Amino acid sequence: MDYSIIGFPRIGAHRELKFATEKYFRGEITEAGLKELAAQQRKEQWQAQADAQASYIPSNDYSFYDGMLDTAFMLNAVPARYTALSLSDTDTYFAMARGYQGEAGDVKAYTMKKWFNTNYHYMVPELDDDMEISLRSGDFLAGFKQAAELGIKTKPVVIGPFTFLELAKTTGKKNKSDFVPALISAYSDILKTAEGAGAEWIQIDEPYLVTDLGSGDINLFNELYTAILPAKGSLKVLLQTYFGDIRDSYEQVTALAFDGIGLDLVEGRQTSALIKNGFPDDKILFAGLINGKNIWRANYAQVLGNIKELRESVKNVVLSTSCSLLHVPYTTANETKLGSDVLSHLSFAYEKLDEMKEICALAKLDDPSSAEAYQRNAALFEGGTRDDAEVQAAVAALSDADFTHAVPRKERQALQKKILKLPKFPTTTIGSFPQTAEVRKNRSLYKKGEISKEEYDENINKFIKDCISLQEEIGLDVLVHGEFERNDMVEFFGENLEGFVFTSNGWVQSYGTRGVKPPIVFSDVKRRTSITTSYIQYANTLTDKPVKGMLTGPVTILNWSFPREDISTKEMMYQIALAIREEVLELEAAGVQIIQIDEAALREKLPLRRADWHSEYLDFAIPAFRLCHSAVKPETQIHTHMCYSEFEDIIPEIDAMDADVITFEASRSKLTILDTLREKNFETEVGPGVYDIHSPRVPSVGEIEDALRIMLEKIPEENLWVNPDCGLKTRGNEETTASLKNLVQAAKELRAQYA
Ligand code: GLN
Ligand code: ZN
Repeated sequence: MDYSIIGFPRIGAHRELKFATEKYFRGEITEAGLKELAAQQRKEQWQAQADAQASYIPSNDYSFYDGMLDTAFMLNAVPARYTALSLSDTDTYFAMARGYQGEAGDVKAYTMKKWFNTNYHYMVPELDDDMEISLRSGDFLAGFKQAAELGIKTKPVVIGPFTFLELAKTTGKKNKSDFVPALISAYSDILKTAEGAGAEWIQIDEPYLVTDLGSGDINLFNELYTAILPAKGSLKVLLQTYFGDIRDSYEQVTALAFDGIGLDLVEGRQTSALIKNGFPDDKILFAGLINGKNIWRANYAQVLGNIKELRESVKNVVLSTSCSLLHVPYTTANETKLGSDVLSHLSFAYEKLDEMKEICALAKLDDPSSAEAYQRNAALFEGGTRDDAEVQAAVAALSDADFTHAVPRKERQALQKKILKLPKFPTTTIGSFPQTAEVRKNRSLYKKGEISKEEYDENINKFIKDCISLQEEIGLDVLVHGEFERNDMVEFFGENLEGFVFTSNGWVQSYGTRGVKPPIVFSDVKRRTSITTSYIQYANTLTDKPVKGMLTGPVTILNWSFPREDISTKEMMYQIALAIREEVLELEAAGVQIIQIDEAALREKLPLRRADWHSEYLDFAIPAFRLCHSAVKPETQIHTHMCYSEFEDIIPEIDAMDADVITFEASRSKLTILDTLREKNFETEVGPGVYDIHSPRVPSVGEIEDALRIMLEKIPEENLWVNPDCGLKTRGNEETTASLKNLVQAAKELRAQYA
């Protein structure tokens, strides 16, 4: 049996590409230097795949920034404002990626969006009326040719025209359909060029097929490929999908002249049922059975069972990853701090190669179960080393009452108004204050063991003290302690909870040169000891104003981690929620009157298909949040925060989190959310961010007042809070103070008008 890799990580096992690219940006290395590093890295990665006997090795999956941006570039979809800079090709490309400010001009970058249901972000391509889409050059074959010289056969990978068009945005009078003829011709050229260069296969990625499609979308897909595929000649075309199943288009896809079809059997709930209904004998099924998005060892018995079953209805099966390995780190070999009890369970990109090689060998045997590789693997799935009976029992014992506040929200809100005595339009921030060099130094000295826990905490208390006086001076109503003890809102809690493990080098590309190092939910989760109370309690002693307790919610903690696969998402969320609940109750007992539980990432993991929104996510994510706070006294005010306002479709569910107050990002263009809040009788008090913290710009008093006035057209006076749109940790002290002073001033002027 053969196996195929859809795509490989590209930032480098030690983020070499990131550092080299940043050096290039700073002018410290030349373009040739950067390209040399990339060529070396690609060579090593192809060699590793070839050594592990992969039969279908990708090329052109590599990228200096983003694959969608590469596609736009390849198709000559470069907006005039970038070509007008007259930069080199490479610098034009980077100008699109990150904007350009210099002698040649001043242009902003492309916008970025989340790539389907991953934490990777792609650059949204733009289609301008004057663009002439065509295959710009044969550069997409550069990797193929480099590998061929090394004696390694690869399949060039391109993002397909359907996904490209669906995700692109048009900027002028033309519709997307106006670009179809040019796209057909460009992709026909791609096939011809690949064939001419001697490629046997090309992989065309069409992940958009796994989303809810209408008949217009399906017609578009058919139109594109009916016209493009005749150009393939003797080249074989693999249509690759991932992140779900292709239930809306399976029939059309299998009827077209593709030579191979890649389907996701990990996330695609209906994939195996679709295949059972018939898969053409003249095509190869690339069976995505190895999870490309998670870091656990594959269960050989299970995968072999799946292969056997597929072979009953499919003539030609090739084993594949479920998606590109871009979404996992490089290798566990660099994780020297983790014990073998942990490491033996983990499989990053390089380890997945070995697993696939072993599975392919086992699949050839009549009785694989007696083989050494099989038994070694089976041993990993025996025994309950990752279990904690106490936590499991606590989750099992939960009843409706644990998810429900005893006092209805309206009553709570009225009581809170009496007790907290906040002015109308209360002012607050989202939690973090600037993480200055001093703050970061304190943390790094402590991590390196150069200062004691006592010294570390003493410094933190000093930062807290300064932060409280600053907020009093500014005149804010609800204060925060500043979050100087955390660098990351998820990592901090993960480190303080039982059940999480952390890698040293487990970086995954988030966008461009940025990576994240997600914690791993390794075993059952519980709270080890008090996490934040001492800091908040101390802050509270410094002022008569209320200081918010500041926690990260269970949905966000889980969404930004690698989850377990052997227990349900619901179980994991409830376990984390129980831990946060303990912290919430401890804060309350310590006299904290307001507690904020951040759910920055709640919207992010909403399933791709609407039919799954409730059963696969909201039905437990929303209760998990309620579980954190349902037991507090009615006078304890619960806040939450989200980083975006794109939750128009789930307003009732957000309200059902039963928080008393929610703050969120709401730039001018997104204020339509306020109409929906009004229509749905949203009960939660709201603080739509009045200025953008992602920019160093200081908003004027007038501008903030204007924003507030627009909000007051839709939001009842007694429900409106005044705050920035997110935490201030990436900002500098100076602009933060100036901005917050203006914010407080704007609230005061408004109060006078509404008195
Ligand atoms: N409380 C966090 C902060 O202020 C929230 C961060 C976020 O929403 N991403 O930094
Ligand atoms: Zn935020």
